[in-house]
Amino acid sequence: MAGQKPLLELENFIAGKFIACNSHIDSYDPSTGEVYCKVPDSGKEEIEAAVTAARGAFPHWSSTSPQDRSQIMNKLADLLEQSLEDFAQAESKDQGKTITFARTVDIPRAVYNFRFFASSILHHTTDATQMDSMGCLHYTVRSPVGIAGLISPWNLPLYLLTWKIAPAIAAGNTVIAKPSEMTSVTAWMLCKLLDKAGVPPGVVNIVFGTGSKVGEALVSHPEVPLISFTGSTLTAERIMLKSAPHCKKLSLELGGKNPAIIFDDAHLSECIPTTVRSSFANQGEICLCTSRIFVQRRIYEEFLARFVEAIRKWKVGPPSDPTTSMGALISKAHLEKVRNYIKKACAEGARILCGEGVDNLNLPSKNKGGYFMLPTVITDIKDESCCMKEEIFGPVACVVVFDTEEEVIERANDVKYGLAATVWSNNIGRVWRVSKKLQSGLVWTNCWLIRDLNLPFGGMKASGIGREGAKDSYDFFTEVKTITVKY
Ligand code: NAD
Repeated sequence: MAGQKPLLELENFIAGKFIACNSHIDSYDPSTGEVYCKVPDSGKEEIEAAVTAARGAFPHWSSTSPQDRSQIMNKLADLLEQSLEDFAQAESKDQGKTITFARTVDIPRAVYNFRFFASSILHHTTDATQMDSMGCLHYTVRSPVGIAGLISPWNLPLYLLTWKIAPAIAAGNTVIAKPSEMTSVTAWMLCKLLDKAGVPPGVVNIVFGTGSKVGEALVSHPEVPLISFTGSTLTAERIMLKSAPHCKKLSLELGGKNPAIIFDDAHLSECIPTTVRSSFANQGEICLCTSRIFVQRRIYEEFLARFVEAIRKWKVGPPSDPTTSMGALISKAHLEKVRNYIKKACAEGARILCGEGVDNLNLPSKNKGGYFMLPTVITDIKDESCCMKEEIFGPVACVVVFDTEEEVIERANDVKYGLAATVWSNNIGRVWRVSKKLQSGLVWTNCWLIRDLNLPFGGMKASGIGREGAKDSYDFFTEVKTITVKY
């Protein structure tokens, strides 16, 4: 149509070259509901080509020194940082997140992922023991595993993809990465920087398309011995099944149903704004977002009133507006799914305090077809409700009352997930006791989302298998061998 912008068309990146695909998937701008991009609909053929490229690049890349790899990765980080604004704009448009979030969280973290692993790869040591009685010295060596398959979700697209690519290539592996079909643009933009940074062809291959087609082709490929996956627990089950015949190394970072436990001695002036953020940042589409809020009885009413008042100050609107606190959800289907949870809660007799169905959402006319909803608070809900048990992954928080420490620990642990929790109290003994007893891979006390990438990240129970971090990622992306020398 005259005057209409041509659609952005992405290409696969294999062996250092952009390669067009014959068929495509529509990718939508969540803030308008319009198609704006065509993503390759790749399959087995593209995975075969990527495996050939990654196999060919492995002997050279795996024998380069950590110092050389580190230098290249630092260069890549610099190039990405120089284009930070372009990447942030692209991420916000593709995902629906606010430009502020993309500028201050997603892209800076993607830059840091490369810098962090470029540095940490220089500092690993291996073990050695002496066995004098036998005249033996034992020591370990670590080697890259081979071709790493990396699969990432749509909520923090470049942030999570680089959190996998960086440790994998730092350790000397070559990779085939598959971003979410819903958010592929920044991964494609990254490909344009690889050659400039000095990443040899075939070291990083990015293949686009759906999980069921190209994702499964990657997971099932016999020459890809390792899969690092971040996404839903349901998809992880499928990945375990498909990779089982090949006995692959798996790292699985999955969903959560994260509790916040707020004791009556908590500093509400700090707890409330942080809990608003922990519940609704990135539209509630972060695996670490709080979705069950347990508040001790004495402060329950005060907490609810102040929490709702703070939420109503959050502006929902166009992601490109720097004054917006919450943008659009990822897709129409996801918006419907989130709304259905609220409907179910209402049918069970729960009360909606603010948001969906209670307050009005005002959007500019160009955004009327976008996938927006207001941050929503549900209360008077039973622990058995699906809204308290299942991952909603949207801007919905349930607030419930509790009386004792023992009771709240039991209720917080009574879900299948175990990813992240927050505990708010000024009693250090209590903070220590509760944190220790929570079934959760991460516990933030009197704060949220402060991370030291050196330390392990990951979930318990249905929230995952394995951990990521400086040492953990290094262990995952390398094979260890014990050698014994008799002297
Ligand atoms: P998803 O599981 O639907 O998809 C994740 C990725 O897997 C996508 O790239 C998708 O195309 C691919 N995929 C889907 N089916 C596949 C298959 N059969 N074989 C291979 N690959 C397949 O998840 P999503 O909806 O994109 O992301 C949201 C989920 O991710 C939530 O559950 C969230 O909690 C989780 N998540 C977890 C973490 C963490 O670190 N624990 C971080 C972010 C998101």
